Amino acid sequence: MKCSIGGSFANGELVPFGNIEISPSAGVLNYGQGLFEGLKAYKKEDGNILLFRPEENATRMMMGAERMCMPSPSVDQFLQAVKATVLANERWIPPPGKGSLYIRPLLMGTGSVLGLAPAPEYTFLIYVAPVGNYFKEGLSPINLLVETGMHRACPGGTGGVKTIGNYAAVLKAQGEAKAKGFSDVLYLNSVQKQYLEEVSSCNIFVVKGNTISTPQIEGTILPGITRKSIIDMARDQGFEVFEKPVTVDELLEADEVFCTGTAVVVSPVGSVTYLGKR
Ligand code: PMP
Repeated sequence: MKCSIGGSFANGELVPFGNIEISPSAGVLNYGQGLFEGLKAYKKEDGNILLFRPEENATRMMMGAERMCMPSPSVDQFLQAVKATVLANERWIPPPGKGSLYIRPLLMGTGSVLGLAPAPEYTFLIYVAPVGNYFKEGLSPINLLVETGMHRACPGGTGGVKTIGNYAAVLKAQGEAKAKGFSDVLYLNSVQKQYLEEVSSCNIFVVKGNTISTPQIEGTILPGITRKSIIDMARDQGFEVFEKPVTVDELLEADEVFCTGTAVVVSPVGSVTYLGKR
């Protein structure tokens, strides 16, 4: 396996950020054999750099690689590469409270393959970019459209891993919703079409009184690292948290709704529009 760092990190060495050469017959271009991660580095007041639970991203990449028939960097290789890339780009980390450095590890089949099969060679690379708020609303409430026609995942599919094709699947629904003024799309499950799944790039939580519900992890939604932390923190604070099927009715009758993710952090949802049947 090759790895790259810009610097970015490519196949084991730090290299300047730039275009990469790839064969037209690479597995990632023809059969979508690609997997990524997203994590953030924050600058603390004391000058130290904080990475939020990077070992969880390493583990999730390993699980995803297994589903996508690719070898994965080990947890140690992943962590070393992330740390080296962040240190090489320390000057790009925004000051405390002004944003963060988004880190994008990418694993892809770059070997040539014509007939449908896993690629014979892989590339692991990391690039970084300073970021601010994900939504144009900042951390003010966002408005979501519940999508009733298009789905991002199906049982037995790849919805539970961070493969590139999952994001290709949401582009149309997300683009249409944004053109109508919505912040993003909330997807429903593809079987009964009445249970919540997740938003294009974050998990969803529904609050009613002292109870917080979030869709359970069953292979069709991404097991979010922020989701897991919020569940632990909410339980510590005395909320009852259920990971279970959550219906559209529960969503519409909720006291509060919020989304979680590395990019969106914790974003409050101010309104939800559901145009389907109840
Ligand atoms: N669901 C999807 C589809 C995502 O892309 C993300 C962002 N990685 C999440 C949920 C949230 O996961 P995390 O908290 O690990 O960023």
